[in-house]
Amino acid sequence: MLMVKQWTSDLIGLLFPNLCNACGTALFHKEKLICIKCLHDLPFTDYHLHAENRVAKQLWGRLPLHAAMAMLYFRKGAKVQNLIHNLKYNGKTDVGLLLGNMLGERLKTSPNYSGVNLVIPVPLHHKKLKQRGYNQSMPIAQGIAEQMGTECLEHALIRSAATESQTKKSRYKRYENMQAVFTVALPRQFIGKHILLVDDVITTGATLEACANELLNAGAAKVSIAALAFAE
Ligand SMILES: [Zn+2]
Repeated sequence: MLMVKQWTSDLIGLLFPNLCNACGTALFHKEKLICIKCLHDLPFTDYHLHAENRVAKQLWGRLPLHAAMAMLYFRKGAKVQNLIHNLKYNGKTDVGLLLGNMLGERLKTSPNYSGVNLVIPVPLHHKKLKQRGYNQSMPIAQGIAEQMGTECLEHALIRSAATESQTKKSRYKRYENMQAVFTVALPRQFIGKHILLVDDVITTGATLEACANELLNAGAAKVSIAALAFAE
């Protein structure tokens, strides 16, 4: 029976080889999700080592954040885009967990992120959640929480309106709209906590800004931000 199982698994592997989620080449036996070459080539920012990094500077003056960073540079057509595409649209939540683990390993060595005691993913609107079946920021948040030994809550924040139609509005107008879009589901969970808010890719930062404001209004002591990637 065991042999049959092994044979079947080998045959499936032959017909549908495990491919690297970043470059699409077949993975070797010991490689998992991302090939060694791609892992080696990933464009790490090392922002966890620098409090005054470009992500933090982008958000300066907009809200009182404790720390902000992104692990990788996001460039169109590059490997990081493939990884995030697979996580977001191809159901590859294990890619999110793996990258979240890598991110958590970095954050736990960073003094800027010491004392984080709750990890929260940026929520999706429930319609989008139903359509996609999962929130792509959740496995990232779980991977971070695993490494940092902290709690991770999925439904602490609620996104109450879809935001696609807002893309044509000015950044300020968009921010105004976004502010009303998030509500706190479990306010008592936030009081006095250092909360780490997690997103997949940071672009304008408007979504994170609106979420962080809600958490601070609900009594969070500090809010920090970490994302997988930063769109330059
Ligand atoms: Zn690869």
